[in-house]
Amino acid sequence: MDFSKTVKDLRQSFASGKTRSNEWRTAQLKGVIKLIQENEEVISEALYKDLHKNKAEAAIMELILCVNDAVNAINSLDSWTKPEKVSKGALYLMDNAYIIKEPLGVALIIGAWNYPIQLILLPLIGAIAAGNCALIKPSEVSEASARFIEEYIPKYLDKDCFKVINGGVAETTAILEQRFDTIFYTGNSQVAKIVMAAAAKNLTPVILELGGKSPVYIDTKTDLAVVARRLCWGKFCNAGQTCIAPDYVMCPKEIQDELIEKIKASVEEFYTADPKTSDSYGRIVNNRHFTRIQRLKQGSTVAVGGEEDEKENYISPTVLRDVKLTDTVMQDEIFGPLLPIVPVKDHTEAIDIINTREKPLALYVFTKNSKISQEFCDRTSSGAIVVNDTVVHGGLPTLPFGGVGNSGLGSYHGKFSFNAFSHDKPVLEKSLAMDSVNNIRYPPYTDKKLGW
Ligand code: NAD
Repeated sequence: MDFSKTVKDLRQSFASGKTRSNEWRTAQLKGVIKLIQENEEVISEALYKDLHKNKAEAAIMELILCVNDAVNAINSLDSWTKPEKVSKGALYLMDNAYIIKEPLGVALIIGAWNYPIQLILLPLIGAIAAGNCALIKPSEVSEASARFIEEYIPKYLDKDCFKVINGGVAETTAILEQRFDTIFYTGNSQVAKIVMAAAAKNLTPVILELGGKSPVYIDTKTDLAVVARRLCWGKFCNAGQTCIAPDYVMCPKEIQDELIEKIKASVEEFYTADPKTSDSYGRIVNNRHFTRIQRLKQGSTVAVGGEEDEKENYISPTVLRDVKLTDTVMQDEIFGPLLPIVPVKDHTEAIDIINTREKPLALYVFTKNSKISQEFCDRTSSGAIVVNDTVVHGGLPTLPFGGVGNSGLGSYHGKFSFNAFSHDKPVLEKSLAMDSVNNIRYPPYTDKKLGW
């Protein structure tokens, strides 16, 4: 497999300068919006095929997010692309100093399977807004969505500037041998190391959107009914296959029983007493992930759910109680509908536990006590922190979305996506007049001239 011609063609399109104008960028962004709006049914079918994703959930978690981001980019393009004046010291008073946002060039966007449309289109919106060309590699795991991307992107976007290649490890490995100006990768931390190593050969910058075990802490004095609903929604949408899904809960032991009761009630409210029959509940993407999640549960005590059906890759919303940090389920990111509860003494112990582990993508704290939430903010490190809710920070484009340490590198959404695909190029325009003021910097450096 040789993808050098594909990348060469993209490079030529970029060099032609066609991506530079805001008119072209706006037309492409409108193309993204049209692609979504004219094909909602087709997209929903693909997402249902891949993940049994409910149409409303697909709209909320994938499509509306992308449309809003594209509309925001169109409306903001003029201000984002305008040169940014900077302040100047006395030595530069006669000069112009500003920063221009330069497109990086040809971007590679590699998507993951859990939000297969959003994870391609959102970074693509940033790449377009910043004036780049892009090679797009959807995840082979979500096959129907990958086929949609391959078939429909060329129908709505500039074919010379955006190309899609479908394939698995072999194809991605071959693609990574090419030189790109930036690589935007979404997926797990192990593959991220492969991507970063390939990028290092050409000193290509990378944005890595990864995952990890995102913890939740629940304080004693809070409204557990509301907590349970927000927790269950964030955990069990897309059957737990969300990068920022709450991975595990820590709470003082005295509230564990009541919390379990409330979670059980929320699960029934959302998905009925038999979630398998609910149209609102998803499936595990494939058998490999089904057996992986199934194994994680072994040895733990099931408090809610625990049903499975391998034929359908179905695992019910499941809560595990009295989980210990050494249990299997606490070792790696779950990425499925298992919710372990780890009883702790208090929030201080929860903070200590978080700090002994890899930095998570998100941290959720449920408390009415602002001193406690502040302590989590001050004493822990995570991609994001949300107080009294889960997952929703991903929908606010004025907040950067990304990880830190093992959960990722760089961020995007809204203007952060534009920045992710731009180089901040400083421009200093000097005047040729009054060169005598520069005498002091020109040799010879005599004592007389320097006044020593
Ligand atoms: P995946 O299996 O779809 O892999 C992601 C991409 O990497 C695919 O396009 C795949 O082709 C490519 N790939 C796989 N193996 C490769 C290899 N050896 N060499 C080169 N490329 C390779 O998705 P996944 O990794 O299972 O995704 C799940 C992970 O992604 C979880 O950790 C989740 O938390 C994380 N995630 C993060 C975000 C975010 O925005 N931060 C979003 C979604 C998922």
